[in-house]
Amino acid sequence: MQDLLALQEEALILFARLDTPHALEEAKARYLGKSGVLTEKLKALGKLPPEARKTAGAAINQVKTALENALQNRREALAQAQLEEELRATALDVTLPGRTPGRGAAHPITRTLERVQTLFRSMGFEVAEGPEIETDANNFTALNIPEDHPARAMHDTFYLDPGHVLRTHTSPVQIRYLQAHPLPVKIIAPGRVFRCDSDVTHTPMFHQVEGLWVAEEGVSFAALKGLLIEFMRAFFEVNDLQARFRPSFFPFTEPSAEMDIGCVICGGDGCRVCSHTGWLEVLGCGLVHPKVLEPLGIDSERYIGMAFGLGVERLAMIRYGVDDLRTFYENDLRFLRRFR
Ligand SMILES: [Zn+2]
Repeated sequence: MQDLLALQEEALILFARLDTPHALEEAKARYLGKSGVLTEKLKALGKLPPEARKTAGAAINQVKTALENALQNRREALAQAQLEEELRATALDVTLPGRTPGRGAAHPITRTLERVQTLFRSMGFEVAEGPEIETDANNFTALNIPEDHPARAMHDTFYLDPGHVLRTHTSPVQIRYLQAHPLPVKIIAPGRVFRCDSDVTHTPMFHQVEGLWVAEEGVSFAALKGLLIEFMRAFFEVNDLQARFRPSFFPFTEPSAEMDIGCVICGGDGCRVCSHTGWLEVLGCGLVHPKVLEPLGIDSERYIGMAFGLGVERLAMIRYGVDDLRTFYENDLRFLRRFR
């Protein structure tokens, strides 16, 4: 009996120390295998007298059961440890930040265009569009700028061929729209325009928004002034924004005016942006010239038209305090990120 207890003790200590399933199975064979220590003892029972055989058999079986239980527990413990190790090795760190593509944003000129359109839509204007390649006739002649007119030279035009140009302004959309739609019309025409010019305040491509309102009633120079002042106050979010209209010349309007607004940067005291005048030029406008309306079959005694054209980059520069127009088109992300 003493033998058996010592054997059991020795086996249990060994099992607990082994740390691989393979070593454990080898140890099992040593005790419980065909020629294992315990198996040999069972085989030897036959040599004992019947009385002693019974007691000894029971004692050996008890030890055998104890070893089998210990083996089974150790097997499960090793399997559990291996599973945990595998989980640790393949674990995902869910707190690691993911890889996301860079987040873009609308270009400041696009945002300005959208703002202009939203405001004019709220004042009842529809949005019209026209082609960027325009006929010489629509770009100039139909707008009362005949051949040899000095205004053609002022526009620094990109000619594609003698009959076609990259439009120098959005005003030809007026002509296209009036040809295709019955009166009254009340539209703005936003879009790209092109001139052969590049410096701090000019780029070869820039954006204009043309406005045209032709109707029997409601159109007058006073109404035009009121409309544009209302727009500028909303655009710059300055309720008491000052405005003035200076006489000017455009071939397609008569009378014509340039609109200035009180400087939104310095409030009129004078600063670098307004060249210390307190005023900012923002757009040109006027009543549509009869020589534009009559060739389209519009009775200029009965209908009055008002028109205006504003530079989108100009408004964006003032609103965002940018002093070099070209920076909008240099694709410098350090600059563009300021407008997100
Ligand atoms: Zn100023």
